[in-house]
Amino acid sequence: MLIEAQSVTKMFGAFKAVDNASVTVEEGDILGLIGPNGAGKSTFFNCLTGDMPLTSGTVRFAGTDITTAPPEERARLGLARSFQVPLTFESMSVLDNATIGALLRHHNAREAQAKAREVLDRVGLGRLADAPAKSLGTPGRKRLEIARALASEPKVLLLDEAMAGLTPTEVREAIELVRRIHAGGVTIVIVEHLMEVITSLTRRVVVFHQGREIARGTPREVTSDPHVIEAYLGR
Ligand code: ADP
Ligand code: MG
Repeated sequence: MLIEAQSVTKMFGAFKAVDNASVTVEEGDILGLIGPNGAGKSTFFNCLTGDMPLTSGTVRFAGTDITTAPPEERARLGLARSFQVPLTFESMSVLDNATIGALLRHHNAREAQAKAREVLDRVGLGRLADAPAKSLGTPGRKRLEIARALASEPKVLLLDEAMAGLTPTEVREAIELVRRIHAGGVTIVIVEHLMEVITSLTRRVVVFHQGREIARGTPREVTSDPHVIEAYLGR
């Protein structure tokens, strides 16, 4: 098992953003995590990556308890994520942004840059390597976000709405990109609102609502589940 999150709870004051979530991810999986806005999906990712401490519960990664490990240590073990709001350093070049991810594995700047160039090629940003990151539009930023994560050579990639704001054509290209990343041996957990993305990429989905898991199963099973339909319509 690559990720084993057990009874993860995250409180903000008295508010339970994630309530007793237990999710496991096996090597080679593409797991979908869906739910209405505010369901706790990004917060759950934050608990997995260590970007936020959990209130209770445990997280294991490839057998190691990482519940209290700092984000860099988790990243070094092979856990990478994209942020819902891209973490782009605007005044830096596209290449330098991607190099940040590569510096996790390469202390030699030239090697890190070579790795960054390789992942930029993989995500289709190779030609824009020397452009300032601020010149990128939404699709470019989303790709750069994935490139930065890939540059750290992860075992697992957590994608948080990496396709939001893309046109249908760009979404199809992004689906292909995720397929290629997965085929390259990276396990994927994907948060996405577009069901088309979830159905075409995943065979297994977990549904959150108000911090709690309300369903799990195949995309077809969960989308026909009355609890899930109610959760989406109730907002
Ligand atoms: P999702 O990603 O599923 O849309 P989030 O995980 O972003 O949901 O948010 C879950 C809930 O937790 C929301 O009600 C949100 O307002 C709240 N929340 C998220 N981050 C914080 C924070 N840093 N402080 C307080 N409340 C937060
Ligand atoms: Mg979110």
